[in-house]
Amino acid sequence: MSITNIDHYIDGHVSANAAGAAGRSQDVTNPATGAVTGRVALGSAADVDRAVAAAQAAFPAWADAPPLKRARVMFKFLELLNLHKDDLARMITAEHGKVFTDAQGEVTRGIDIVEFATGIPQLLKGDYTEQVSTGIDNWTMRQPLGVVAGITPFNFPVMVPMWMFPVAIAAGNTFVLKPSPIDPSPSLFIAELLKKAGLPDGVFNVVQGDKEAVDALLVHPDVKAVSFVGSTPIANYIYETGAHHGKRVQALGGAKNHMVVMPDADLDQSVDALIGAAYGSAGERCMAISVAVLVGDVADKIMPALIERTKALKVKNGTNLDAEMGPIVTKAAFDRITGYIGVGEAQGADLLVDGRRFDQKEKGCEQGYWLGGTLFDKVTPDMRIYKEEIFGPVLACVRVKDLAEAIALINAHEFGNGVACFTRDGNVAREFSRRIQVGMVGINVPIPVPMAWHGFGGWKKSLFGDMHAYGEEGVRFYTKQKSIMQRWPESISKGAEFVMPTSK
Ligand code: NAD
Repeated sequence: MSITNIDHYIDGHVSANAAGAAGRSQDVTNPATGAVTGRVALGSAADVDRAVAAAQAAFPAWADAPPLKRARVMFKFLELLNLHKDDLARMITAEHGKVFTDAQGEVTRGIDIVEFATGIPQLLKGDYTEQVSTGIDNWTMRQPLGVVAGITPFNFPVMVPMWMFPVAIAAGNTFVLKPSPIDPSPSLFIAELLKKAGLPDGVFNVVQGDKEAVDALLVHPDVKAVSFVGSTPIANYIYETGAHHGKRVQALGGAKNHMVVMPDADLDQSVDALIGAAYGSAGERCMAISVAVLVGDVADKIMPALIERTKALKVKNGTNLDAEMGPIVTKAAFDRITGYIGVGEAQGADLLVDGRRFDQKEKGCEQGYWLGGTLFDKVTPDMRIYKEEIFGPVLACVRVKDLAEAIALINAHEFGNGVACFTRDGNVAREFSRRIQVGMVGINVPIPVPMAWHGFGGWKKSLFGDMHAYGEEGVRFYTKQKSIMQRWPESISKGAEFVMPTSK
């Protein structure tokens, strides 16, 4: 099989490492088969400098383009994305491993944000007050920041970059994307589509790479803002380092999402929701449900069905259209997850289904990173499999006596990304939504990823910074407010004024 080189995209062109043959690179692997399919360049500070310089040069003209003109590029991009949706989904499956139908869903949720960004003229409208003082009007406008950077995780190689660049670019910024080196190919395809859509060279750039490229972006004086999505320790580091270097930063981190099942919930629906939300995308979603909080006698009622459904998962190469779960993304992730299963067992949780026993690898997939769904019962809050993010197909069931105990448990957790509560009781739903210390709440919705115009963000150690991704918060993040106060000579009263202006 041929191995593709995956390079940077700078100033409208694919570009190899500045260091040439001396530059660094790493393998890109198909997790279903274990085969190396590509070699991705790992950018240096010199590559970041080139990308930022191209973005800086493109900024004045792009910022000056009328918002409607920028929106029209987004419209064209939207059309092209819809045309090439399946091409992108195939690329995701080939490098990430998630099943094709789920990859299609990822692309669709990314496209939603592009659609939102086409509304930028409306979103950039400012406020205006006539006659704040005699003869004086005051208004605010929002202007782009300049060059902004996006640093993204492996688990959504299309959707997460699209949480960022469509809004940033539509608002008049220029962009440097640093994708995950694990599944870098979609970034170049996206760059080509943007160019075809009429985006001027230099407005969207890609620097492939790892920590070296990230660090260069974090200290670069011309990078005005950094959006990050990834694990909590790195999010914390990005937030502190970016802020230290005077940048605006939003850094979304890891998660441990709970789903509460109340005794009055529809139990069949609850089982469906738990299975899909825990094992979809092999649990490698920041909104995956990794803890089931089973209230009262719910555990005894649903455990047989949970066991049966976990065992029956169709774990297959994601290219099969009936596959429900694909492989684990890398060997390192596989080792981490299987390690956690061992820890759960050692710390005394009931291991009801052990994904390490999975033995139905398809032909050609013998070298892939395969694991079945894993189900633990009687997990307690002191166990590592409860406290730490596993980021794999492992569901931990915790038994509690009532809603108050469920809420207290969740609120005590260090993460606060997503949460769900399954119930038929409106008052329970209302109380839960109000009292829970989590950024995104689903009532009978297991994965409540907000729609494009609402914005995405967790609380506590799931988000560093105060602005959520996309939605109106995204527009605010990528723009700065300017206030203008104006009067005309005919309305100016005579004589200098020495007291603080007040409305007269
Ligand atoms: P990661 O933190 O390892 O990597 C994220 C990005 O940071 C990548 O681009 C990577 O190259 C870069 N990076 C990695 N180590 C770095 C370092 N030491 N210094 C500087 N940059 C570094 O995350 P991942 O494994 O790619 O993604 C999975 C994680 O992302 C999970 O923790 C998941 O919960 C989280 N995630 C969160 C959200 C959210 O919205 N909160 C969404 C998706 C994923």
